[in-house]
Amino acid sequence: MGRDLTPKCKQCRRAGEKLMLKGSKCSTQKCPMVSKNYPPGIHGSKLGRSRKLSDYAVQLKEKQKAKKQYRLLEKQFSLIFEKAKSKKGDIGVNLLTLLEIRLDNTVFRLGFASSRDEARQIVNHGLITINDRKVDIPSYRVKEGDIIKIKDTKRNKKKVKNLGEELKKYETPGWLNLDIKNLEGKVLHMPDIAETQTNISSQMIVEFYSKK
Ligand code: SF4
Repeated sequence: MGRDLTPKCKQCRRAGEKLMLKGSKCSTQKCPMVSKNYPPGIHGSKLGRSRKLSDYAVQLKEKQKAKKQYRLLEKQFSLIFEKAKSKKGDIGVNLLTLLEIRLDNTVFRLGFASSRDEARQIVNHGLITINDRKVDIPSYRVKEGDIIKIKDTKRNKKKVKNLGEELKKYETPGWLNLDIKNLEGKVLHMPDIAETQTNISSQMIVEFYSKK
């Protein structure tokens, strides 16, 4: 599966919002959105963000933002949207829930990784078990009651070696419970919108797809 190779900070500058793609750097003054909050490119600083966008452009932008935040390709994102449509209930809520319960995102939300890219690597490299069975599929959807754990035999790996200390400062969202000592997290219930910690307007994304 191909990946979006555009430099991450450029993706934020183009989106006009912090997409939080670079872990701890995103919360510091080193974030380019602090000093260069205008679109990338030689004319970016002159053009600024004053251009008025059409409704369609705003909805497209919102879809792109969600896709980039969750580190998905177009096809992956549209398949998740189709799934959200096929489920009962509000499509926008279904969409956000399906995005949140991906295993890579859940690993990120548990604080086991500083970014979703890093979380995906941790999953891909076989560091994660769910209910004591190795799962290395980032798109796997976690369920209520699942126990997601860093494998005991992998705790010396560079990416997770110092996790115990780092997690002491970390606050997990309400749908997850974190056991720092055992480096494991439990899915207490499916996330509700308030718990998804997202700045995404799923309604705009629904409107975007309704025009396709
Ligand atoms: Fe985006 Fe993070 Fe780069 Fe800031 S540091 S521009 S939030 S990826």
